[in-house]
Order: sequence, then C-alpha cells, then structure tokens
Amino acid sequence: MPDANDAHHLDGLRPETLAVVAGRPAALPDEPLNVPVTFASTYIAGGEREYGRYANPGWSAFEEALGALEGGRVLAFASGMAASSALLDLVPQGGVVVVPRHSYLGTLSQLRHLEERGRVVVRQVDAVDTAAVIEAAAGAALVWMESPSNPALEVVDLASVIAAAKAAGALVVVDNTFATPLRQRPLELGADLVLHSATKFIAGHSDVLMGAVAVRDEALHAEVLGRRSMHGAAPGPMETFLALRGLRTLPLRLERAEQNAAELAARLDLHPAIAEVRYPGFGAIVSVVLADAAAADALVAGVRLWRQATSLGAVESTLERRRRWAGEAPTIPEGLVRLSTGVEHIEDLHADLVRSLDTLG
Ligand SMILES: *Cc1c(COP(=O)(O)O)cnc(C)c1O
Repeated sequence: MPDANDAHHLDGLRPETLAVVAGRPAALPDEPLNVPVTFASTYIAGGEREYGRYANPGWSAFEEALGALEGGRVLAFASGMAASSALLDLVPQGGVVVVPRHSYLGTLSQLRHLEERGRVVVRQVDAVDTAAVIEAAAGAALVWMESPSNPALEVVDLASVIAAAKAAGALVVVDNTFATPLRQRPLELGADLVLHSATKFIAGHSDVLMGAVAVRDEALHAEVLGRRSMHGAAPGPMETFLALRGLRTLPLRLERAEQNAAELAARLDLHPAIAEVRYPGFGAIVSVVLADAAAADALVAGVRLWRQATSLGAVESTLERRRRWAGEAPTIPEGLVRLSTGVEHIEDLHADLVRSLDTLG
C-alpha cells in the first residue's frame, strides 16, 4: 500500500525532500523502506497490473517521485527516444511539427524519418528567436521545445513560446533533460507534455537507459499510456529501480555538478585556446568552442581524468566533440566540445583540462 493513497501527503514539501520521500511505501511494520525491485512479466489475475508491459510496482514508485518534482503525472519509458516516439505519434497524419534546429540529434532524426515518409511536416526554427517560433506555431499540431538545448546550450523563452503555441491550438512538448525539474518545470508554464531522457541527470550514474513523460491532462495521460503499452516501450524493473535510486540524490548531485560547471565556465573563458564558452548560467553542461576540429580533438585526447564519452548528467565528468556525430546540426561549430561536469573536486577537473589545453599552443 503506497503512501499515495493519502493524496496530500506530499503537499508543501520542497524538492530536496520530495526527491527522497516521494514514491516510498507506507510506513507499516516490516515494509521495506523503499520499493524493492519486482521482476515479474505477469501478475495473478483479478487486480489492476495484469501484465509486465502494463505495470510494475517500481514504475509506480519512480513515476510518483518524478511526478512530485515536475508537478504532474509521469509515465516511465524504456528510453528518452521511446518516450519521444510515443509523443510524436500523437501528431495527426500530415501534421506540422515545429522543432528547434538545434535539438538533440535523436529528436531531429526521428522527425526527419517521419517527414521522409510523409507522416509529418517539419518546421525547423531558431528557438532563440521567439518571434520566429511564434510565427511558425501558427497552424502547427505540435510545438517541440528543448531548453537549454543539446549541445548549443541555447535558452528558449518558454513562457512566451508556450503561451503563443497554446493560443494557436498546438500541443506543446518541452524536453527538460538538461534543466531537470529542479531548475525548470514546464508544466507550470503551461506546457502539455514534458520529456526526459532519464538516462542523464535523473538516473545520473551512466548505467541506465530510461525515459519519462510528465503530463497533467487526464486524456493526454491516457493517450501516452496507451502508446507505451501498445508499443511495448516499457522500462525494465532493474532500470527503474536504478533510476529511482539515482533520483533520490539528484538535488545533491546537481548542486555540486552545477557549482563545478559555473566555476569552469568562468575559468575557461580566460584560456587563450578557447574562443567561446557557452553556459546558460544554470545546470551542469558547458560547451566550449575551440579554433577547429583538430584543436577540439586534441583537447579531448589530452585529458586523463575526464572521459571521452557521449551522454551526460552523471557523477563522472565526460566530454566529447559533438560534430564527430554525422547527424549533428551543421550549424554547431566543428570545434565545439560539450563538457558534462560531474561531482569530482573542481581543482582536479580544472587542472586536467588546463593541462590538455596548454599543449594546444
Ligand atoms: C539523450 C537525450 C535524449 C534521448 O534519450 P535516450 O535516453 O538516450 O533515449 C533526448 N533528449 C535529450 C536532450 C537528450 O540529451
């Protein structure tokens, strides 16, 4: 029996507390303190769970915890991409989708693939140009925003864009992976749907692939839930357990990682090998632009503590030159290196980067 039976037990609690207590079982003698992992493909008939593609007690715990932070109801998915597939499936045949030209490359490839087959019409926009986004929203079925964006770190005026898109009758999705619910809650700004790659900050330890959707509207929740069940985009029980365990420490991890990111952004700005530092002023991702691809590759090859790896938002610091991916937008500079700062000591992280940067001359 989860605490959720008392609908108000989380009211008024702060995010740091919600991250720890939301989704716990009720405080009954001999109950485990946290929801244990349930390996079950099926359940004894007569209840609500029925089958492993429809429900898992661990999903409910994760969904309650993330839902408390986002201020909506959450549905867990097998990956961020599985979640975004379900959301793009909401677009009617031939519907217009507005998307930032600088979005996560997986989102852009999903849309390109759908457009090639005539499923949707894609309108790419410069999401920093609020007036252009608002103009593009006219007649759109879906306005997809991502802020801060991966890896350009552009910040969208979400309040204005959401209000205009809603007025134009479009559904609004915000990919909140980079900000996390601790820094931005798009549902409160009027967005219909929030997407997470829980693989990143939420799980936070580079060992889980998972996604999530947050939604307030009942009918929309049912639509997304129906797609998860129908597409089989369900997360594994162990993954969900690990993601919830990661979520418990998100406020602590983000606080340290963000301090590291802000400090590095300030220090790296002064280094002669760095042409530009992009940091939105919050979060734990910093993009630095070097002279060219060769300089960026040399920086990445020269570090010892930082690891070259794609993905982000984990306890360990990672970096990569984004244009090494063929699908990355051509307007992302060849010399852009995306840094995901972890929770290590700032002086160790800084010294490692400077050692490598100083060899670039
Ligand atoms: C990684 C990422 C995704 C995709 O999530 P997966 O869990 O890798 O499927 C979507 N959006 C953003 C912003 C991401 O960084």
